[in-house]
Amino acid sequence: MLLENKVAFVTGAGSGIGAAGARAMAREGAHVFVTDRDGVAARTVAEVISSEGFRADTIEVDVTDDEALGRAIASVAQNTGRLDVLHSHAGIQIEGKLEQVTVAEMDASWAVNVRAHFVAAQAAIAPMRAHGGGSIIITSSNSGVQIDREMIAYATTKHAVLAMTRQMAADYGKDNIRFNALCPGFIDTPFNRGFETQMGGRDKLEDYISETIPMRRFGTVDEIADGIVFLASDRSSFMTGHALIIDGGESI
Ligand code: NAP
Repeated sequence: MLLENKVAFVTGAGSGIGAAGARAMAREGAHVFVTDRDGVAARTVAEVISSEGFRADTIEVDVTDDEALGRAIASVAQNTGRLDVLHSHAGIQIEGKLEQVTVAEMDASWAVNVRAHFVAAQAAIAPMRAHGGGSIIITSSNSGVQIDREMIAYATTKHAVLAMTRQMAADYGKDNIRFNALCPGFIDTPFNRGFETQMGGRDKLEDYISETIPMRRFGTVDEIADGIVFLASDRSSFMTGHALIIDGGESI
């Protein structure tokens, strides 16, 4: 197994990609801490992992609460004696162009899509360094490498967090702490509901996807989970500062 005896902490893991990544890492032997602002959703994911015979625990944490996020990461490291993988995944998407997005919505996007990753990564450094390294995966998006029409808050923050990931990778390579950004394209999860409404409904969204994505379909959460396991494990041991784009060719 690729992650035997490793400890992994995942934010926003109560649904979608975070949940699939948590399950995939547990199947590879990791003890996974499934965290989400929705404690019930996180617990449901952890119960599925346990029912499959793998190890998971739950922590309810909202990533915009700096103290709670830092405390949760520190407590996992203290209680298990290590932290090998941080998948800082929770994010939000506020649709609209410059005149439609309020300053408060821009601040909210920054708080979750950039600031919270900074706080989580900062808390992970000491326990990872103490054990000779680790892997920090920060979820950006293919919107971090291309411009999305009428998505100023989302595309701006996803570009920013990619820059931050590369900066941290350069600073912590000597500590064997790897930082990579996960950049999914359209993955069929509840996350796209706002964009679906913006597009005029599910049919319109599917038309858009089959016209604009070379592979003409949504990706699945399991296709992203494979990337998460790759970045978390030694399969990517000499890879840091990378943006792993998994998007059916949308950003080509
Ligand atoms: P999802 O299925 O909606 O799951 C996101 C989870 O994060 C939800 O349980 C959500 O809770 C939780 N969450 C939201 N804000 C949080 C906070 N402040 N603190 C803790 N948990 C929070 O979404 P997903 O598809 O996994 O996508 C989430 C991440 O992937 C985002 O960073 C997004 O930018 C990125 N991404 C997704 C896609 C895609 O097509 N799905 C594409 C590119 C990038 P609530 O349900 O209560 O909001």
